[in-house]
Formats: sequence, structure tokens, C-alpha cells
Amino acid sequence: MATTPERQINRKTFFKEAPRAFLRAFAEGAAPERQAADGEPVPRLRPPGAAPEAEFLELCCGVAACAEACPADAIQIRPIEGEPDRAAPLIVPAEAACILCDELDCMSACPSGALTPVPRGEVRIGLARVDAGRCLSWAGIDPGCNYCADRCPAGREAIRIDKNDAGHGPVVESACTGCGVCEYYCPASPAAIRVFEIAQ
Ligand code: SF4
Ligand code: SF4
Repeated sequence: MATTPERQINRKTFFKEAPRAFLRAFAEGAAPERQAADGEPVPRLRPPGAAPEAEFLELCCGVAACAEACPADAIQIRPIEGEPDRAAPLIVPAEAACILCDELDCMSACPSGALTPVPRGEVRIGLARVDAGRCLSWAGIDPGCNYCADRCPAGREAIRIDKNDAGHGPVVESACTGCGVCEYYCPASPAAIRVFEIAQ
């Protein structure tokens, strides 16, 4: 798998203040401790530019070119449910999120058409969802917590801090790309914001 973050990991609008060491730690998955929600299935989050799931599984030849191209090591090759002899790329944000890097080489590296290039703003890996009951901000446990909105590479059009009679906390908007950076950084355990696949 790729281990050369110098290549394309300089996503200026996202990491403009981050030192190299931080980038490397991010790429290697050095996040705060967290765990997936007990009993919840791992969402099927395919890499950027993936065809709809059924078509994706028909086209994907499992050569892992996308995973090799990813400078953040965010793409894992995992067995396909119900097909133990096949594996396909998957993003598990709690372990390593897509950083929507400058080049998005995963899409162009795919030789089979399972991934095809789309503009960054049109990437829809999934959609983030906030569990207000777990959210430290909405629950009033840490009203200042805003890691998810603060780290989101897509900005306020994807997630913003809202305020109403119940208090305040993050609300996900339509520009969410499903990159999972919010899930990766959420300090709640299990994460109070998670990315799920979009119904097709
Ligand atoms: S980072 Fe997690 S706990 Fe903090 S505001 Fe966002 S969803 Fe809530
Ligand atoms: S809300 Fe979360 S998943 Fe959506 S674009 Fe922002 S960081 Fe990525």
C-alpha cells in the first residue's frame, strides 16, 4: 500500500496549517482511541467515484490499484460479503478517512471502470449522520466540541454548528462528501458522527 505522503497529500484548503509530522500521523491512522458502535455493521463505503454498488461489484477486479494510489492509506481491501473468494476496496473512516487529496488518483488508477473520475465537489462516498444522544456538544457534556465541523474538508456547506431550543451541535448538509474525516476525529466513543452508504 502507498506510504509516500509527500506525493499528493498537500490538500491546501484542508491541511494548510498542518505540519508534515501531523500529516504522516493522520495518514498512518494515529487518531484518538475510538471504537465502532457495538453490533453495527461496517457501512459499505467505496472509494471516490465508485459506480453504484451492484455495478461496482461487477466491474471491480480487485487489483487494489486505488489502494496503492491513495496517499493517506485510506482504502482497505476487504472481503466482499457473501463472496469469500473476492475482495474489494472499502473505506473505514474510524480507521483512516479519505482526505479528498489534491489529485484523487484512486479514481484514475482504477483499470476496470469501477471507479471513474468525478470532480471533488461531486464525490459522494456516503453521508455523515450525527447521533445527538452521543454527541458531546448536543448532549451538553462538552458544549465547545466542534472537531467534526472544524476538520471537515468540505466546509460549512457540508456541516455546520446549529443552535436551537435543545442546545447546539453539528448538523450535516447536502454538500457532505462522506469522506469520514468528521468520524475519524470525533472524540466520542463510539463516534457520535458516522458515515453511512447512500441508499441506491
Ligand atoms: S466531534 Fe463528535 S462529539 Fe464533537 S460536536 Fe462533532 S459529533 Fe459531537
Ligand atoms: S461532514 Fe464529515 S463526511 Fe461530510 S464532508 Fe464533512 S468531514 Fe466529510
